[in-house]
Amino acid sequence: MTPCIPPELVTSFIGGAPVKGGPQRLAVYYPATGAQVSELAEADAAEVDRAVAAARRAFADRTWRLMPTEARQTLLLACHDAILAHADELARLECLNLGVSLRELRERHIARAAYNFRFFAEFIGQTRGEVYDQAAGYRTIVVREPVGVAALIAPWNAPTALASMKIAAALAFGNTCVVKPSEQTPLALARLVELLHLAGVPAGVLNLVNGRGPVTGAALVAHPDVDLISFTGGTETGRQIMAEAGRRLKPCTMELGGKSANIVFASADYDRALDAALTSIYSNNGQQCLSGSRILVERSISDRFIADFLDRAARIRIGDPMDDATELGPLASGAHRDRVIGYADIARAEGIEVLLGGAAPANLPDALAGGYFAQPTVAVAPDNARRTTQEEIFGPFATFLRFDSYEEAIEKANGTAFGLVSYLWSDYLPTVERATRDLRSGVVWVNTTMTRELRAPFGGYKDSGVGREGGEACLQFYTEPKTVTTPSTPMSPRRFGLGT
Ligand code: NDP
Repeated sequence: MTPCIPPELVTSFIGGAPVKGGPQRLAVYYPATGAQVSELAEADAAEVDRAVAAARRAFADRTWRLMPTEARQTLLLACHDAILAHADELARLECLNLGVSLRELRERHIARAAYNFRFFAEFIGQTRGEVYDQAAGYRTIVVREPVGVAALIAPWNAPTALASMKIAAALAFGNTCVVKPSEQTPLALARLVELLHLAGVPAGVLNLVNGRGPVTGAALVAHPDVDLISFTGGTETGRQIMAEAGRRLKPCTMELGGKSANIVFASADYDRALDAALTSIYSNNGQQCLSGSRILVERSISDRFIADFLDRAARIRIGDPMDDATELGPLASGAHRDRVIGYADIARAEGIEVLLGGAAPANLPDALAGGYFAQPTVAVAPDNARRTTQEEIFGPFATFLRFDSYEEAIEKANGTAFGLVSYLWSDYLPTVERATRDLRSGVVWVNTTMTRELRAPFGGYKDSGVGREGGEACLQFYTEPKTVTTPSTPMSPRRFGLGT
C-alpha cells in the first residue's frame, strides 16, 4: 500500500496547473474520526470564469476537437492505466474524506473510475455516422461533433467513480470541461485531475473548481460560456440547475435521488435475495442513489425474512474504514449522520416500528469516538404513505413493507415520486416478465444486486432524473449531429436576376 498524505491545501486546477487559491477556506474532515485532514480554497465566480475561459480556449484549438479517434483512444487508455497504477493512493484519499471502506473504494470505485476511461476508449472506436442517398442526385451525411464546454457536477457519495464517468465521456467525444466535486470530498478527484494531465490530457481540456454548491457550483451553472451541464446529486438541486439551464437553453442530464424498491416474492431464491437485500442497502455506508431502501416482501415469507435480515444487520462490522474487515464505515458528515439518525424519530412518530439501530453505535474504539457513525437501521412500515417510506434517507436505513399480491407489490414499488431503479427477486418467469413491464423505473435489476452495464442507459424516471448516462446515451448528449448535403453531380441552381 502506497503511503498517502493528503495535501494541506486543495485548490482549483485550471489551464493545466493548480492555482494559488483564494482567501475563502473550508475544512475537509476524515469522517471516521472527525479530524480535519485538509483544507480547500473555494473558487469564487472570478476563478470559475478563468476555468471556463481555459476550457473555451482549449475547445477553440482544433488539435483537441479534431484529434484523430485512434490518438484519443490511446490517451484514454493512458488515463485508465494511470488510475490503476495509483489505485491505492486514490482509494486512500477518497477514504480520508468520504469514510467508505478502503476495500470497497479499491474494488468498486477506483476500479470503475479506470474502467470508465477504457470503456469510452473502446466505444469511440465503434461509432459511425449516417448516410442518406435516397434523394436523387444528392448524398447527405450526418456526422457528430463535440458540443463544447461541459460543466460536470458530482456529489459526495462516490466522487471519483461518478465524476470520472462524466470526464471520460466528455473527453472521449472531444469536449472540454470544468468539473466541480462536492466541497466535502475534493481529495481524490484533485489528485485524479493531476494524474490525467500526467497521462497526457492537454492543458485546458480538463479543469477543476472546488467549493460549495451555492457558490462555485452556481457560478459554473450560470456561466454564459458553458454549453452543456451534466449533474449528479439531489433532486431539489437538480430542479434549480435545470431551471437555470432552461433559461440559457443549455442541454443537461440530471441523475438524481431514489427511493428504490427491492421486491422479494415468495418465489425468490431466498438466500440470495437476503444477501442482496443487505448489500443493496448497506454497501457504500448506505449512501447510494440506487440503494434498495424500501424492501417489499411477500407476506408469506416476511416474518422469516425480516428476522433473518435483522440478525445479519445486527452483526455488521462497524468501524475503521481503513480496515478491510469493516463492513460499515461512518457517514460522510456529522450533519448527514444526524439527519439519517433523525429519521428513526420521524419513523417512530409516524407509527413505524424501528427494530434495530436508529442511533450512533455505542462501543467504538476511542480513536473513532469523534467519527460520524450510525448503526444499521431496520424499520417495518404498515404502509407506503409515510415520510420514512417516501423520502430519500441516503443512509444505512432499511424500511420493510409487506405485500399480499402481485398488484399490491407493484403499486407500492411505483408509489413514490422517484423511479431510479427497482430490484426484483423471483424465480417464477411469468412474474419476472410481468413486473419488468409494470415497474416505473429507469433500471430493473432481476435477481441481482447493483450491476451497472455501461453500454446501456442509466438514469431515472420521474423525480429521479432527466436524460441518461451510458455508451449511446453519452454519445447523444456530448455530441451534436451535423447534417452535410452534397450533390453527386454539379447541380444547377435556379437562376435569379437574368431578366431584362
Ligand atoms: P447535492 O444536490 O447537494 O449536491 C450535488 C452537487 O451539486 C455537489 O457538488 C454540490 O456541491 C453541488 N451543488 C449544490 N447546490 C448547487 C447549486 N445551486 N448549483 C450548482 N451546484 C450545486 O447532492 P449531494 O452531494 O448531497 O449528493 C447526494 C444526492 O445525490 C442524493 O440525492 C443521491 O440520490 C444523488 N445521487 C444520484 C445518483 C444517480 O446516478 N442518480 C448517483 C449518486 C448520488 P456541494 O456539495 O459542494 O455543496
